[in-house]
Amino acid sequence: MEFETLAIHDGQAPDPVTGSVTVPIYQTSTFEREGMEFNGGFVYSRIGNPTRKALESTLALLENGRHGLAFASGVAAAMAALQVLRPGDHIVSSMDIYGGSYRIFKEVMQPWGVETTYASGKTTASYESCIRPETRMIWVESPSNPLMRIADLRALAAICGERGILLAVDNTFASPYFQRPLDLGADIVVHSTTKYLGGHSDVMGGAIITNDGKLHTAIRNYQATAGAIPAPWECWLIMRGLKTLKIRMKEHEANALHLARFLEQQPAVSRVLYPGLPSHPQHELAASQMEGFGGMITIELKGGMHAVEKLIKGLKLFILADSLGGVESLIASPSRMTLWALSPEEKAARECTEGLVRLSIGLENARDLEDDLSSALEGC
Ligand SMILES: *Cc1c(COP(=O)(O)O)cnc(C)c1O
Repeated sequence: MEFETLAIHDGQAPDPVTGSVTVPIYQTSTFEREGMEFNGGFVYSRIGNPTRKALESTLALLENGRHGLAFASGVAAAMAALQVLRPGDHIVSSMDIYGGSYRIFKEVMQPWGVETTYASGKTTASYESCIRPETRMIWVESPSNPLMRIADLRALAAICGERGILLAVDNTFASPYFQRPLDLGADIVVHSTTKYLGGHSDVMGGAIITNDGKLHTAIRNYQATAGAIPAPWECWLIMRGLKTLKIRMKEHEANALHLARFLEQQPAVSRVLYPGLPSHPQHELAASQMEGFGGMITIELKGGMHAVEKLIKGLKLFILADSLGGVESLIASPSRMTLWALSPEEKAARECTEGLVRLSIGLENARDLEDDLSSALEGC
C-alpha cells in the first residue's frame, strides 16, 4: 500500500467494541490482568498503551521501518537513541544541528563520558576525518537546521557499515513523506513529531524508527524504564496529523518553492538556502535521496540584524516563533532565538550569522505570503 493509505488505515481499523472509526484514546494508567502471570497484553501505560501502540505502528510503516517508538518530545527521542552508547564511546555529528541536540551532546552526553566531534557537514569526507577508533555513532540532520545542508546519507551509511558505526538521522525537516533514511541505509531515524508529523503546532512528541530488532529492544526497554512517554491524547493528535501528512507536505513544498524563487529575486536578500532551488550547492544530492524538498527556507539578509528586526516587524502573516512544520508560517532568527545560548565562537564555527532568518512556510495562500514578505522586505 502507498504512503497516504498506510497513514490513514494502519492500526486504525474501526474499534471492534463500538465501531469507532478513529482509534480510541485509552485514557487509563493500568489494565486489568487475567492472572498474576504476564500474558503479553497491556499492563501499565508507561510500558504500553493501545493508543500509543497504534501511533508507533503507523510511524514505523511511514518510515518503511520494522519498529517504531513514540516519546514525549523530540529531545526525549534523541536522548533515548543516544542511550545505546556507553561512556567512552564517541559521536561524530554535523556542526549544523538543532540547538537542543547540540545541548544534549554538550550538557548531558559529555559529562556522562561520551564526546562529540563536529564535522562541517559540507562533504562526506568531513565526517570521515572525525572518526576515531571509539566512534560508535554518526548523527546527522538532512536538511540541517538552519543552514539546510544535505548529508549524503547513502555514502555515510556505507562508511558506517564498513566500520560498525551506527548512522542516526534526524528526519524532522524532511518528514518521511519526502525522505526515508532507513531505505538509504541509516540505522536509526529520529523525529520531533511536534513539527510536520503533528503538523498543527498543538502537540509535542518524538519518535524513533529502526529496522534492527536489537536496537529496538534496547531503546524500548529504555523508554519503559526512563518513562519519557507521550500521553494517549498526544498520541491521538499526532496520529490525526499523520493522516494528512502527504497533502500537507506537498502544499508546504509548493508554497516554499514559490517563495524561494521569489526571495532569490529580492535585492535585500543575499542568500536563499532551499534544497529545491538549482542554486543550492547540494541540489542534485537532495534530488537523488529525497522525493521533495520540504517547507523550510533559510535566507540571509544583506543588512544583518538591523534588517532582520525590520523584516520581523513588517510581517503581518509570518509569526515570530521558534517551532516549525505547522499550518501557519513562522519566522525565527537563529542567532537570537533558536541558537541564542551559543557563544560567539560557537556561532562563528556554525556560520550562524546575524543576518540569517529561518522561515517555516505554512499552508496559507502562496500569493498572500509573497505579498507579506514583499512589503516587509521593502524597508530592509
Ligand atoms: C524541534 C526539533 C527537535 C526537538 O524536538 P522537540 O519536540 O522540541 O523536543 C529535534 N530536531 C529537530 C530538527 C527539531 O526541529
